[in-house]
Amino acid sequence: MQAELAWLEWVRRAAARAARPEIRLGIGDDAAIVRPRRGCDLVLTTDLMVEDVHFLRRRDPAAVCGRRLATRALSDLAAMGAEPLALLVSSVYPPGLPAAWPRQFVRGLLQAAAEAGAQLIGGDVSSAARAGGIVLDVIGAGQAPAGQALLRSGARPGHRLFVSGPLGEAALGRELVHSARSPRTAIERRARARHLRPRARWELGQALRRSASAAIDISDGLATDLRHLCRASGVGAEILAESLCDAAGQDALDRALFGGEDYELLFTLPPGREPPAGFALRQIGRILPARQLWLIQAGRRLPLPAGGYQHWAR
Ligand SMILES: [Mg+2]
Repeated sequence: MQAELAWLEWVRRAAARAARPEIRLGIGDDAAIVRPRRGCDLVLTTDLMVEDVHFLRRRDPAAVCGRRLATRALSDLAAMGAEPLALLVSSVYPPGLPAAWPRQFVRGLLQAAAEAGAQLIGGDVSSAARAGGIVLDVIGAGQAPAGQALLRSGARPGHRLFVSGPLGEAALGRELVHSARSPRTAIERRARARHLRPRARWELGQALRRSASAAIDISDGLATDLRHLCRASGVGAEILAESLCDAAGQDALDRALFGGEDYELLFTLPPGREPPAGFALRQIGRILPARQLWLIQAGRRLPLPAGGYQHWAR
């Protein structure tokens, strides 16, 4: 009990170090108080991570799980063009889990939150009644100028499609880490780092508020997330296979389309609008009027296969 109180006190202090003005009250009372900047909307998201579904306890260090949980929420905020403000995190732990796991988990989470300028403002912990997997839940809060958040629904025929980085590397990194195989090439080294140190694109998301017509973050794989964006906008699209990733081959293309957890942004720009400067962006295709998705590969135009991140059971 004493150890638990000391631990909660450590979390409270560590979280308070990231104090930002919109957080009127952080951890310590029955609830936190957040006052978004004048003229801003509050933007909210929630996400779950479940052991053996989203991570493997044997292979994914606890701090990496903390970082990834924060990144999932921060990436959703980025896709809305919102400035990250706060996170709330709740966890269910199986009986007998070593105390080091939650501690390292919170350290990883706080680090990712601090990088984004978000403050941990609350949460809860419970132990499960029976043996089972760890369950982790996050709520992310951000702010965006009123009425200016980026939506999925603004893409129109003729708009160009962009992504904020090469796709599929996080999935390759996950394969490397989960199979305990050492990286052999520069791309594999970068992929491993991307799995272990995911980072959401919140700076880009805010920069895109002025130029993009629609945006979504790529958490489930391009094929799935592009489908979400096109459905919300009532349009179709064609994408160029060669533009999606740096690595060659069908495996790399499959990872780019279906791998998931890239946490890059997919967005559309109307004709004549320039993408924001200072970001490594790649144009991958364009929006079409008919509600179909096409993949152009080696000069051939094929229907984009359905699929996506299905708990990595490809
Ligand atoms: Mg999302």
